[in-house]
Amino acid sequence: QADIAMYEVKAHGRNDLCFFDPQMQATINARAQLERDLHAALKNNEFELYYQPQYTLQGQVVGAEVLIRWHHPERGMVSPIEFISVAEESELIMHIGQWVLRTACEQLAAWRTQPAASALQLSVNLSARQLQQREIVAQVLSILEETGAPTHLLKLELTESTVLVNVDESIAKMGQLKAQGVHFSVDDFGTGHSSLAYLTQLPLDQLKIDQSFVRNIGLKPTDGVIVQTIIGMARNLGLEVIAEGVETQLQQEFLAEHGCTLYQGYLFCKPVPLTAFTTLLAQTQQPDAITQ
Ligand code: C2E
Ligand code: MG
Ligand code: MG
Ligand code: MG
Repeated sequence: QADIAMYEVKAHGRNDLCFFDPQMQATINARAQLERDLHAALKNNEFELYYQPQYTLQGQVVGAEVLIRWHHPERGMVSPIEFISVAEESELIMHIGQWVLRTACEQLAAWRTQPAASALQLSVNLSARQLQQREIVAQVLSILEETGAPTHLLKLELTESTVLVNVDESIAKMGQLKAQGVHFSVDDFGTGHSSLAYLTQLPLDQLKIDQSFVRNIGLKPTDGVIVQTIIGMARNLGLEVIAEGVETQLQQEFLAEHGCTLYQGYLFCKPVPLTAFTTLLAQTQQPDAITQ
């Protein structure tokens, strides 16, 4: 690369050779700007939760996954794919994560008196760094208490890698939350490296089949086999199973044929703002209250 300049830097009393790449510097600057913007976003209320409904085979809405959206004052809508990973590199994710949890729980509490919504579960994504946090259990419990959200309607989504950062600690923390009624789902299931042995030790309620496998149903036979295997595994472990990223009728039929009971994806509904979700609820059937 022609635009790489070399600088000699005196450090620790010796001459270290450093490479300076303007492209790399631009990336670093952009990242620093993003971090500053995220701090401002928290202060200025620029985040919003979108709701993506989760359906039974009969078309009933049993809950929703909440997905964060950021309305950047200059850039418009910024995808969580772009900013969550940056937030995860600092304390920012704790603050954003808390905001998401609190907002979701406030919504659960507000729905308590609305018959069309009072049995809905909300799935909240939890980052590895949040789970690793020493006070996470106390934080989740105090948010539940302060908002008055029914504990059993909160479902936390963790990826396999999140859990594996420190398995024993994860099991202990999840166990404490589970004892209070909080539910757990393994997000993006099948893409990580968790072994069956670990899996059975975790106090789980649900496996969520990763959308990369769902996408390849009918296209890549081995992914079809993986999907079948996950559904079978969930059944044998007594866990609920949900497919994410369901986009086609063919995918849905394959999943149903193999025993998948819950569905989430563009075929049914995209993630939508609260008002649209509420409208949708009024037009869809809900099953009877889930009590546990
Ligand atoms: P995820 O938790 O696996 O969420 C599923 C993603 O798939 C969402 O992307 C959703 O909009 C998208 N999706 C849903 N149905 C379909 C479909 O049929 N086809 C396709 N192609 N995509 C579909 P989104 O909202 O952009 O979020 C991306 C990721 O960002 C999430 O993946 C999650 O890891 C992270 N994320 C989002 N919100 C939060 C949050 O509040 N906290 C944390 N820690 N992470 C979040
Ligand atoms: Mg998720
Ligand atoms: Mg996922
Ligand atoms: Mg994902």
